[in-house]
Amino acid sequence: MTLSRLAPLALILLPVTAQAQILGFTPAHATRETAVEEKLKSIPTPDEERRQHRIFTAEPHVAGSKRNNELAEYIRDEWKKQGLEDVIIREYDVYGTNPKSASLEMLAPTHYTATLREAPLPGDEDSKNPAISAAWLGMSISGDVTAPLVYAHSGNPEDYDLLRKNGISVKGKIVLVRYSNPYSYRGFKALTAQREGAAAMLVYSDPDDDGYKKGKVDPDGPWGPEYKIQRGAITYDFMVPGDPTTPGWPSVPGAKHIPIEDAISAPKIMAMPLSWHDAKPLLENLDGPVAPDSWQGGLGFPYHLGSDKEKIHLKIEMENGLQPYYVVEGRIRGAELPAEWVVLGNHRDAWVFGGVDPSSGTASMMELTRALGQLAKEGMRPRRTLVICSWDGEEVGLTGSTEWGEQFADELRSKAVAYINVDEATSGPNFHGQAVASLAPMLVETSRTLNDPSGKSLYEAWKATAAKEKEEGHQSSQMNDSGVNDGQLADTRIGSGSDHTVFLNFVGMPVIGLQFDGDYGVYHSAYDDFYWMNHFGDPGYKYHTLMSQLWGVTALRLANADLLPFDFAAYASNVRQFVNDLRSAGVPPAVAGASRPRTPGAEANLDFTPILAAIDNFETAGRVLNASLAKKLAAGPIDPKLALTLNQGMMQVERNWLNPDGIPGRPWFKHILYGARFTYAHLELPGLTEAVEAKDWPTANQQAEILERALATNTKLLNQLNSTLNP
Ligand SMILES: [Zn+2]
Repeated sequence: MTLSRLAPLALILLPVTAQAQILGFTPAHATRETAVEEKLKSIPTPDEERRQHRIFTAEPHVAGSKRNNELAEYIRDEWKKQGLEDVIIREYDVYGTNPKSASLEMLAPTHYTATLREAPLPGDEDSKNPAISAAWLGMSISGDVTAPLVYAHSGNPEDYDLLRKNGISVKGKIVLVRYSNPYSYRGFKALTAQREGAAAMLVYSDPDDDGYKKGKVDPDGPWGPEYKIQRGAITYDFMVPGDPTTPGWPSVPGAKHIPIEDAISAPKIMAMPLSWHDAKPLLENLDGPVAPDSWQGGLGFPYHLGSDKEKIHLKIEMENGLQPYYVVEGRIRGAELPAEWVVLGNHRDAWVFGGVDPSSGTASMMELTRALGQLAKEGMRPRRTLVICSWDGEEVGLTGSTEWGEQFADELRSKAVAYINVDEATSGPNFHGQAVASLAPMLVETSRTLNDPSGKSLYEAWKATAAKEKEEGHQSSQMNDSGVNDGQLADTRIGSGSDHTVFLNFVGMPVIGLQFDGDYGVYHSAYDDFYWMNHFGDPGYKYHTLMSQLWGVTALRLANADLLPFDFAAYASNVRQFVNDLRSAGVPPAVAGASRPRTPGAEANLDFTPILAAIDNFETAGRVLNASLAKKLAAGPIDPKLALTLNQGMMQVERNWLNPDGIPGRPWFKHILYGARFTYAHLELPGLTEAVEAKDWPTANQQAEILERALATNTKLLNQLNSTLNP
């Protein structure tokens, strides 16, 4: 649509829309906010996004490496130039592993030596860089083993059950598993192999999952080529994230560390990733029973489970010990409420170049900080303080953010409004917004004010993506039959796997996560680089630019609101959905696609009536508060003391979902509404759900009481706030 065609329409609409309306703002402040947002959106440019992206993707920069530490200094220096304040690099001395040497050979029935390397791609100069690492997995142990090989499909517990049915034990053997079909976090695969008594785990990328069976491969398309190796860590950070040797406290220099042998999140198994090029000869030469149909892959021959005739020799030498990780922290000090913080973060470390993961997010962050610095210089300083962080070692175990969050937990609990995470900014055009339910409405509202490169508003583009995914059968729980409601647009089921974890699950902060994605088969490989981004991911850097704008506008709405835009009625209805899912045994499966755990007897052994009544009360209090807040905002300027009371009270709601004891068996994870399964999948009402699934009714009843008490506490809090508004 052209501008001239739009103009008359805009004129007609003007009288109706002249009064700006934004959740949490008085009309006058909404008008000012709109002007500030327009200014912010005008600053980031595709050229600058691309320039920054090139700086971060020029060399490999894994956590702990010289290059990654130089990039920390680069960010510090840029932020100072851009006008950020209190810029500081914080050091954490954490337990880490680096690859020293590794080899893999098949000794029988035939001889094959694995390359463990990624071949250069024609046209992609970076893929020739000699600094590219060979195949390795963070937190693998060192070792030297010669043993038979067993194909164990995706390496999930049910896969080993099937092997047992076929009379195959993996004790002392090497297991070969694939990354997906169904997907589970590689650390969960490693733990499962360890529990099964395997000597080592090899994990490979099958072309069925993210290679030529999906479409054209790099350098001709976005999917993974023959030599693609998906690196990654196998840390058991679903038990406790961060440095395994400082569980629950920060690894500041001089901190106490427990011995690595005693660390529950440190794997005790050798593990190695493979390209399909290296996996093929191993699979091709496996004997034994033919694997079931659902275990077959895209390599063009029948996969077998293995017999004792195959011999594999695997040797891994790692360098272990404490090493410094660096978190860069900067801020734009709030003009009116400097002691209220909105925290933004992105990780810096990459497995290799990090074209998508995370340097697309890092480039978007650098353009956002440039815009924020410019606004502040021009007198458009946010009311609250924006704290911006470049995390380190996310890829190893969410390490930098976890140590920082543990260090500042008390301060964050008194000051923080929310945390907004961007990990991968973009691998394609499809938007996915994630938020705790109280912030879902404001995120949807924000999306209406941004323009998607497709020509639609981001809101319309988001709806189209959600509808398409509904058709494809993804995210079915988010949809209804007649399309996608606004209330269901944001993903409110938040698992782990990125830097929001410490803020939500340990500190008790509301979190938002922003990401664009698309066809992407080079994750965590050397091919996830500048070439890939410029040919497939975001060739014009338009989505990088949009991410800077979206991230900034979302942050400014939280930083500038008169009354924080939380919707607790929306939160209540979400919690009701979580409880109803549990009651109907509609518990999300442990692994996508796996059979759903059944929870017969939940209703018989657990009385849900008090919880549902407590949710009703919380929802009513939320509705009443929503109406009172809207009325107050519409009436114009708000007394600062009243605003302070209301905002501090609303910030307390998320903290009240924390149980200081944590969920049973995982004391670090303190949130009673949100958690993560060992696979990284989201897990709602984690303590209660796990107890129900284990049919541990005493624990289930105890967890139900904890939930009921938290609901009552928050209902009381909302009622108090409401009476403050209506004395
Ligand atoms: Zn990442």
